[in-house]
Amino acid sequence: MAEQPVSKKKKRAPKAPELLRGFKDILPEEAPYWQRVRAAAGVLLADYGYGEIQLPILEATSLFKRTIGEHTDIVSKEMFSFLDQGGDSVSLRPELTASMARAYIEHGMFNRPQPVKLYSLGPAFRYERPQAGRYRQHNQLSMELFGNAEPSADAEVIFIAYLLCKELGLDVTIHINSLGSNEAREEYVRLLKEYTKPKRSLLCEDCKKRLAKNPLRLLDCKEESCRSLFASAPLLVDNLDEESKKHFVAVLEHLDESSVPYELDPYIVRGLDYYNRTAFEIVASVAGDGGVSDEASAHLAIGGGGRYDGLVETLGGRSTSAVGMAFGLERVVSAFKKSKASIGSEKKPQVFLAQLGEEAAKHMFTLFETLRSSGLKVRANFGKSGLKAQLELADKLGVVYAAILGQKELLDGTVIIRDMENGIQEVVDLAKIVDELKKRLKRGR
Ligand code: AMP
Repeated sequence: MAEQPVSKKKKRAPKAPELLRGFKDILPEEAPYWQRVRAAAGVLLADYGYGEIQLPILEATSLFKRTIGEHTDIVSKEMFSFLDQGGDSVSLRPELTASMARAYIEHGMFNRPQPVKLYSLGPAFRYERPQAGRYRQHNQLSMELFGNAEPSADAEVIFIAYLLCKELGLDVTIHINSLGSNEAREEYVRLLKEYTKPKRSLLCEDCKKRLAKNPLRLLDCKEESCRSLFASAPLLVDNLDEESKKHFVAVLEHLDESSVPYELDPYIVRGLDYYNRTAFEIVASVAGDGGVSDEASAHLAIGGGGRYDGLVETLGGRSTSAVGMAFGLERVVSAFKKSKASIGSEKKPQVFLAQLGEEAAKHMFTLFETLRSSGLKVRANFGKSGLKAQLELADKLGVVYAAILGQKELLDGTVIIRDMENGIQEVVDLAKIVDELKKRLKRGR
C-alpha cells in the first residue's frame, strides 16, 4: 500500500490557558498574609459580638438592582449577570451588604435581640477596568450592625474597623461625610444639578451621564478637570436636615472620644444608592498593590461603609436601621505587607523523611504522621525517587536531619538519622525516632 504523504505542517502546541483579565491567583507565598488578616478580623469581630455568616456568591439580579440601585455604575455596567438554566437572571454578587440584608429578612433576624451583628468574608465581582488595586474579583470583609439607629452604632463600626487596621500595623485615616436624610439629599441633588447644568460641556463623558442618572456621583469623579469644577459646588454637609446634622456631630464626638483619626470629606458619596447619613472611607497611607503601582493605588480606599436605614425595608422587611462597612482585602493585605507588623516567619522544616524500597514507602504516611503530631516540622517524599534525589531535596529545604528508612532498617526496626550538615549517619531504634530527633535538635546538632 502506498504510504500516505506526511503533512509538513507542524501542529502548534495549544496556547496555555491564562487568567481572565482583572482576576488574580493568590499563591502560597502570599497566603500567610491573608491568613493573618482573616484571623485578626475573626478574633476582633467575635470579641465585639459579631457572628460570622457565610453567604452564596450568586444571587437574584433583582436583589442588587433594588438595593445598590439600577443607575449606579455597579449595577448598570459592572455586574456579571447571566440567565441560569431555568431562565432566571442571576448575578455574581458585586458586594455583600445586599445579601446580608436579604439573609436578615429571610431568617427572621428581626425576632432576635437587636442589634444583630454579622460579618462575612468572601469574593465580590465587578467588571471594572483593571488597574492597580482594582480587580474584577476582589475579596471583601463585610461587617454589618442591624437594628440600631444610634450614632454610637456608626461609631462602633468605624472604631472596630480602625482597631483592625491598627492591629495590622496600618496607618489609616477615616474620611467621613454625612449624606443626610433621603429628603434632604433630594433637595441637595436639585441644587447640585442647578449648579452643574450650565457647566455641562466642561464635564467628562462619564459625568455627563452621571448628571442625568446619578448626580451625586459627580462629586467623587477622579478626573482633575471635574474635581476643580466641583470644588466650589454646594456641599451636602451644608444642606443637611437638623436630625442628620445632630447625628453626624454625635458620631464625630464618639470618634474624638475614642481617638479615631478622621477627616471631614464633603466629597464622599459612595457608589451605592442605599446609604443615608454617615458615609465613610478608610484610606491607608501606605496602601499599594503589591508593587504594581504605588502611585496609582496610594489614594485608593482600603474600605468604606455607612448607614443604610432604608435597605431592609426596600427589600420588603420591617423598617430596620442599620450601619456597616466593607474592607477590600486585596488592598488591606497589600498595605499590611508594607506595614511594620510582622506575620512571624513560618517555622522552617526540621526533618526530611526519605525512603528506599517499596515496603519502606508504604510506611511513610504513618511515620510522617508520628513525627508531625509530635510537633516536629517534617517534609517528605512520598513518591518513588532515588535516595540521592531525596537528599538533594532535603538539602534544598534546609532541614537539619534526614530520617532514612530502607528495606534493611524496616526489617531491623531501625531508622537512619543523617546530619545534613556533615553527612554523619547514625542508626537508631525506629520506635524511639521522635525522642532521638528531638534530643538532637535540642542539642543543636
Ligand atoms: P464598596 O463595596 O464599593 O464600598 O467597596 C468596599 C471596599 O472594597 C473598597 O473600599 C475597596 O477597598 C474594595 N474594592 C471595591 N472594588 C474593588 C475592586 N474592583 N478591586 C479591589 N478592591 C475593591
